[in-house]
Amino acid sequence: MATGLVPSPTPETAPFWEGTKAHELRIQQCNSCGKFYFYPRSHCRYCNSTDVEWKTVSGKGTLASYVINNRPTPPFDKETPIIVALIQLDEGPRMMSNIVGVEAKPENLELDAPVTVDWEDRGDQVIPVFRFAEGA
Ligand SMILES: [Zn+2]
Repeated sequence: MATGLVPSPTPETAPFWEGTKAHELRIQQCNSCGKFYFYPRSHCRYCNSTDVEWKTVSGKGTLASYVINNRPTPPFDKETPIIVALIQLDEGPRMMSNIVGVEAKPENLELDAPVTVDWEDRGDQVIPVFRFAEGA
């Protein structure tokens, strides 16, 4: 059972973590320029507008990059190796996450292959992870 560190929501990130508990990937979108961005913050990273809104996005994307981590990390209760992945979301932003559902070998990790979000219970939080899309 993979557990690992449990994140602590802050006022700015709380809507994201409320979304994961509902199995919805929520990120912010700017109402001035229309762009999505991640990580959570009070203003648009592109145009500085504070007219921003939380939206539920598709949870679909592609694998932009990854590293296979063979070293256990505190609190040393998560199975290794783990795949630390940079996900290119279809809506634009990139998100650090994990790839699950495949053995952690480079030949299983095709760059730009389609992925979809899945959910991992961890402590009292739900963590977004990604797996390769069906039929990809
Ligand atoms: Zn903007």
